[in-house]
Amino acid sequence: MSKFDKYFLMTAEDAAVYAQEKLPRIPWDKESVQAKEIGDGNLNYVFRVFDDKGNSVIVKHAGEALRISAEMKVSTDRNRIESEILMLQDQYAEGLVPKIFMYDTVMCACIMEDLSEYQLMRYALMEHKTFPHFAEDISTYMVNTLLRTSDVVMEHKAKKDLVKSFINPELCEITEDLVLTEPFNDVNHRNKVFPPNMEFVKKELYEDTALHLEAAKIKFDFMNNAQALLHGDLHTGSIFVTQEKTKVFDPEFAFYGPMGYDIGNVIANLIFAWNNGHAYGKGSFCEWIVHTIEEVTDLFIQKFRIAYDRYVNDYMAKTEGFREHYLGTVLADTAAFAGTELLRRTVGMAQVKDITSIEDANKRVYAERVNILSAKKYIMNKHAYKRGADFVCTLFQAAEEAR
Ligand code: ADP
Ligand code: MG
Repeated sequence: MSKFDKYFLMTAEDAAVYAQEKLPRIPWDKESVQAKEIGDGNLNYVFRVFDDKGNSVIVKHAGEALRISAEMKVSTDRNRIESEILMLQDQYAEGLVPKIFMYDTVMCACIMEDLSEYQLMRYALMEHKTFPHFAEDISTYMVNTLLRTSDVVMEHKAKKDLVKSFINPELCEITEDLVLTEPFNDVNHRNKVFPPNMEFVKKELYEDTALHLEAAKIKFDFMNNAQALLHGDLHTGSIFVTQEKTKVFDPEFAFYGPMGYDIGNVIANLIFAWNNGHAYGKGSFCEWIVHTIEEVTDLFIQKFRIAYDRYVNDYMAKTEGFREHYLGTVLADTAAFAGTELLRRTVGMAQVKDITSIEDANKRVYAERVNILSAKKYIMNKHAYKRGADFVCTLFQAAEEAR
């Protein structure tokens, strides 16, 4: 009999006992083991369990209600999904995700590698730090986790098994509502619009019917294009960085969807960082961001082509011209979902500190308008984006128009 045979919401003390019981192979110093809650996320409880001998792990535990809102319940199965996908991604993109040591569907918890020496990328970018390996690492991560879980590479029945195993209706519903519906209409009355931008948001978003039509198309592409096993929430708060390394974590929104959703999220979150840098007059940081947006896109394209030629098995997928057609659809989706992420983080319920922390109200108004204007161009002209420079060009245009 163990305390952990039946689900309950763990405290830090429970997590310390839990880690010792579940990972007896770690030479824990029983006298000094302790745990601290370190989570700052919206959904889960994250504990760091450590001792004086230098042993440490992270216990991530799913609660039954969301931490942002007690009324929003989501299945604790998300912890299994997250653990299994990290184990799978570690095969495809080795070293670019945290190691999972064990996971447990009773306590809805997993124990993983402690990455405390890394910094959360969002906060590092808000300090205007730059990361020389980021574009290289994230493009490798995306090509390998996305292309190699898709139908063009995988045996089709094995791929369908993964689709089944990563069906994630509740977390997808959050995205369908918060990202792909509410930014355009505030239909659930929980958008958070910065008051000085209210009129701008009404005109540019709530009253733009042509935009609504494109957004509707994007929403149903998200829901019906089971193309690849996505991270599903690939923003800079899901990425740990050091000067040498990158680790992508927190994939609990994972499911089979369009590859462009992940890539678009990365681009949009780099734009938030650009806006923060711009508000604080950090010229060389902004240049690095621009260069990184370009590089992430172009390295993705370059590595995608190489991986396609190397891994694709499907007979029809090898048809002359199909690789470029397929890549073209991925890039159009990338633009579309960069747009929806830019909008939802600017006017929706879950915002980003890069923007909300800008103290000067005029500068925040400007940053938000850059987000909104670039988002609209990405969404309305999604087929025009063929390379990194195209994404950057739109950012510069929006920055000009927002003045
Ligand atoms: P949630 O799903 O609730 O958003 P996250 O997985 O994002 O939870 O974790 C919340 C925070 O806990 C992270 O922002 C990070 O600071 C910390 N954290 C999560 N995983 C690790 C890890 N493997 N090593 C070190 N810190 C971690
Ligand atoms: Mg998180």
